[in-house]
Amino acid sequence: MPEDHAPAPPVAATDTPDRDFPPSRDAALARLAEFVPHAGRDYAGRRNHDLPGHPHVSVLSPYLRHRVISEAEVCAAVLERHAKSAAEKYVQEVVWRTYFKGWMERRPGTWDAYLRGVAKGRDRLATEGGLRRGWEAACEGETGIAPFDDGAKELVRTGYVHNHARMWFASVWIHTLGLPWELGADFFLRHLLDGDPASNTLGWRWVAGLHTRGKTYLARPGNIRRYTGERYAEADLSRLSKEAPALEEPAPAAPSDMPGDAPIPKGRVGLILHEDDLHPAYLMARGLEAAEAMVLLNPEGRSPLEVARKVRDFTDALTADAADRLPCDVAAITRDPAEVSAWAKGFDAVVAPYAPVGPGRAVLDRVETEIVRPIRDWDLAAWPHATAGYFKVKAKIPALLEAADG
Ligand SMILES: Cc1cc2nc3c(=O)[nH]c(=O)nc-3n(C[C@H](O)[C@H](O)[C@H](O)COP(=O)(O)OP(=O)(O)OC[C@H]3O[C@@H](n4cnc5c(N)ncnc54)[C@H](O)[C@@H]3O)c2cc1C
Repeated sequence: MPEDHAPAPPVAATDTPDRDFPPSRDAALARLAEFVPHAGRDYAGRRNHDLPGHPHVSVLSPYLRHRVISEAEVCAAVLERHAKSAAEKYVQEVVWRTYFKGWMERRPGTWDAYLRGVAKGRDRLATEGGLRRGWEAACEGETGIAPFDDGAKELVRTGYVHNHARMWFASVWIHTLGLPWELGADFFLRHLLDGDPASNTLGWRWVAGLHTRGKTYLARPGNIRRYTGERYAEADLSRLSKEAPALEEPAPAAPSDMPGDAPIPKGRVGLILHEDDLHPAYLMARGLEAAEAMVLLNPEGRSPLEVARKVRDFTDALTADAADRLPCDVAAITRDPAEVSAWAKGFDAVVAPYAPVGPGRAVLDRVETEIVRPIRDWDLAAWPHATAGYFKVKAKIPALLEAADG
């Protein structure tokens, strides 16, 4: 998360074009290799600057979200090149993803409540003309607030927005435009290549003052100008809200128990691959020798509205690449849990990488067979501590880095 008091080294705006996201593990590894030299003090000093081409961040999130590469792999590569003290900031940012995922895993009701919020927001759009017009203008980037409008357009055009710009965008959506936060989170999930139930829902809740209860994020003109290479120096930002009162809701339920890990079963085993973990080498490292695999996808489940074609195509292609890398035949790539249920009858047991709360798990849960779901060591080390603020997980980073199979 950015801090407003972070040092601001001189940074020149560039004309670099949009980054693209080739849908393969090779592309993810190449991007990681390209970024590693910059993951130390460069990143710590400049990561909050949102400049064209995003030269100061890793732009790895679409790959990390689908676990084409894992948090463990990324941290290991960075620590191989940099001293712990230099790489600390980058590793901490990567672990925010782990923390949010663990927090949501321990409070799955937060996802259900979000889905209800989206449904309620859509009902209101159907009956409240003013709200509908405001929502449409926001999604089309036609509000007249230049950095917000540019954020909306960049999101739709590229499927990626810098973290600081996501914070400004969510803050303006909630605190200036007064739109329901769930509809903003839904807009993100429909267009982000890294659209992730935990990071997205909890990122929006954090800006709204619902995650760290009472603590909100306010986008300020000076902060936006400073961290965008002054490209909004002339923009009229006087409409930005000067305050960000926290939204309120009943206190969340107590965290649920940690999900249990499961050993690799014996016999003729089938593997189900899904979009939440597209490089399940840890299962093979634990002894899985799958007789055959099936791929079950649900990118459309990210929203009740139409999920952007760019997102669906990216997930499909990333999944096809992952299927090609498996050491066994793949029976089919499908969106139909009934097809997987029929296929599963041919095996003594069926295994899938653990799927966290969200649409990927929702469709997996509709498969009519017991699915053994081993959890990565990285998650097993982090999630027991993801019950309150980030600091408890941050304190466990040394143990996470020791996690055996990522
Ligand atoms: C309102 C809002 C919504 C968001 N929605 C999503 C989402 O749907 N999917 C998603 O993957 N991320 C989401 N994020 C987190 C973050 O903005 C992106 O992961 C980040 O922009 C990725 O860019 P990068 O890989 O270049 O980041 P880098 O700065 O290079 O960071 C490296 C990695 O650290 C992790 N990371 C960094 N910042 C965060 C953060 N704030 N929260 C969680 N993980 C982080 C990501 O895995 C990222 O790839 C959201 C943040 C906000 C404020």
